[in-house]
Amino acid sequence: YQRIVLASRPQGEVVPENFRLETVSVPDLREGEVLIRNHFLSLDPYMRMRMEDAKSYAAPQAIGETMIGGTVGEVLASKNPQFAVGDQVVGMLGWSEMGVSDGVMLRKVSTSHIPLSAYLGAVGMPGMTAWYGLTQIMQPKPGETVVVSAASGAVGSVVGQLAKLRGCRTVGIAGGAEKCAYVVNELGFDACIDYKAGHLEADLAAATPDGIDALFENVGGEILDASLARMNPFGRISLCGMIAGYNGEALPIKNSRVLLTMRLTVRGFIVSEHLELWPEGLKELGMLVATGKLSFRESVAPDLASAPAAFIGLLKGKNFGKQLVKLI
Ligand code: NDP
Repeated sequence: YQRIVLASRPQGEVVPENFRLETVSVPDLREGEVLIRNHFLSLDPYMRMRMEDAKSYAAPQAIGETMIGGTVGEVLASKNPQFAVGDQVVGMLGWSEMGVSDGVMLRKVSTSHIPLSAYLGAVGMPGMTAWYGLTQIMQPKPGETVVVSAASGAVGSVVGQLAKLRGCRTVGIAGGAEKCAYVVNELGFDACIDYKAGHLEADLAAATPDGIDALFENVGGEILDASLARMNPFGRISLCGMIAGYNGEALPIKNSRVLLTMRLTVRGFIVSEHLELWPEGLKELGMLVATGKLSFRESVAPDLASAPAAFIGLLKGKNFGKQLVKLI
């Protein structure tokens, strides 16, 4: 089967040469192990940080090893009593058509009401990220104004819909008219600002006449700065991502004084450090998707060989919704 390994660490922007496609043979299973055929691979911005040998919340991805990544697939063979052939599972088997798991990071899922791929998106890690930041950090009350950047994406789309269900005024920020139209018309946000149109500050001011009570920040830099300028006293900021800086760009902030004058609470978080809350969050997200109350969109690359280009595209906003790679 085929897999993609990290060939070299990026200098600035990620390039195709940072990856290498390899063919490897299926290993014999040892006691406790499960062989899985992956159906979908998830591509996520955090992978950019793992490609680097820098101090972060997690150890860097090793050169020559299979690129890290979340996967959904089907059990082909099992020497683990908790998994049977045919079970559908979510795991972390990486950029690979197949993989062997010891069962620890493997979870059985049902596809009777939820499509398998959704377990990598709205009912998986990105959905949980949205749920955590909203319910644990922002804690918005009905009627409050919530702003979300990268609003059409895997995480942002869920933040806005959950906030709307909680009775908030919900405003997105996204790149381009098409993404903004989707955020308002399909996801039900009250407004969406196209930051590429060139008047972000004025547009955001118009869309948040009562200021911003809670911010879910996915981007950083100028986009964060524009929202900071609109924050209300005692506003809460869930600092989830700073994708504008993942290639090493500096992200200066002009409006840092607002942190003091508006007495803001800013909290960064890493969703995988809060596994104890996942059952509660995933239960709500799964129910909302199964009942059609939470919608999502996917960009699907056709095969493993197309994963590097799709990943490079994700870091430039070419994806529209959750970026996946179809493996079967
Ligand atoms: P998305 O599906 O939102 O895709 C990334 C989007 O980011 C792009 O589509 C693009 O949207 C936007 N983007 C990319 N580059 C830039 C840039 N230079 N400037 C502005 N916008 C840019 O990804 P996810 O939903 O998976 O992730 C969203 C954020 O959440 C990321 O920052 C990610 O790192 C973070 N995250 C954090 C987690 C945590 O535990 N803290 C867990 C999961 C995700 P557009 O075209 O609208 O600009």
